[in-house]
Amino acid sequence: MDRPDLRKPLLVDRFGRGIDYVRLSVTSRCNLRCVYCMREEHSNESVSFDELQYDDICRILDVLKVSGIRKIRLTGGEPLLRGDILNIVRYAKTEKRFERVVLTTNGVLLERHIQRLLEEGIDGINISLDTFDVERYREITRRSSLKEVLRSLQCLFDDAVQLDLKINVVMLKGINGFELPDFVELTRNWPVTVRFMELMPFDDHQIWRTGRFMGAGMVYDMLREHYPELESLRGKATEHFSFSLPEYAGTIAIIPAFTRNFCSQCNRLRITSSGKIISCLYSGQHVDLLDALHNGSCNGELVDLLGRAVAAKPRDGRNASDGNHRTSMAEIGG
Ligand code: SAM
Ligand code: SF4
Repeated sequence: MDRPDLRKPLLVDRFGRGIDYVRLSVTSRCNLRCVYCMREEHSNESVSFDELQYDDICRILDVLKVSGIRKIRLTGGEPLLRGDILNIVRYAKTEKRFERVVLTTNGVLLERHIQRLLEEGIDGINISLDTFDVERYREITRRSSLKEVLRSLQCLFDDAVQLDLKINVVMLKGINGFELPDFVELTRNWPVTVRFMELMPFDDHQIWRTGRFMGAGMVYDMLREHYPELESLRGKATEHFSFSLPEYAGTIAIIPAFTRNFCSQCNRLRITSSGKIISCLYSGQHVDLLDALHNGSCNGELVDLLGRAVAAKPRDGRNASDGNHRTSMAEIGG
């Protein structure tokens, strides 16, 4: 008799896609103001009203666990702004709740957290950095924190290379394109993945309408021009173009997040920092978990809400889009 496949996702949507990955935004607050993400006036004050509290997050993690979710990405806003972020990581890792618990951060506060994150068992860190130039960093992020980010990066390379380390670089035409080789050079000695990402339309200022969009094709051409010896690898689903260079320790990926459609392989849900489950980036709909959490719903009822969000996943997000683009990746947990 065949043994049941215990690794099959428990949550499967109407189109047969197994859902086993959740991006959980733990705050919408941020210590940077990247021009393609949020306005200068973005509030950092929403903390107490609708930001998920630690107990809410633990319950959500319990519900995700029993629903068969295997991978959690903690994101934001800036997740390291939460004073209890280490407790959250610990909870997610306790009793092997999830196979992988990873974090996306802008790196400003990372240096002081690295050792503890390692102790709590974090599996991977994505650090977002678009430039090595002090002035350009200030133009992009509207803050002067490059030194702190570079120190964090160095610490990661010194102490945490055993982790799955990725560097997210949003490519902006006329702004950071010519720094591409500097980013690639990080992969010479370090086993990191540098991911050149397309700008997406989820930005408060709609920077992507201002001619700064740089498509994956253009990034690829630049890469080839600088590195004719580039070798193609089989990337992960979203890392459609994945490469390495002979003798280099790391890898390079181009993420055509806007020009390619990854819907057929979508295995994820997002949960916002105010407890809304979002089943698709392009949909304006959500399922509210926070109300249920605070109204005394039991875990079984929360599992049902998760199922409702999965059932609402469109086959193709962009085709199903109601045109109401979300205003910021920070809102949805990028
Ligand atoms: N604050 C953390 C950070 O920057 O890494 C985590 C949250 S941020 C929303 C997650 C990722 O979304 C970052 O890598 C950021 O560069 C990316 N992002 C934000 N807005 C974007 C946009 N309009 N297009 C493409 N990527 C975007
Ligand atoms: Fe903050 Fe990350 Fe958005 Fe930049 S991309 S403003 S660091 S949330």
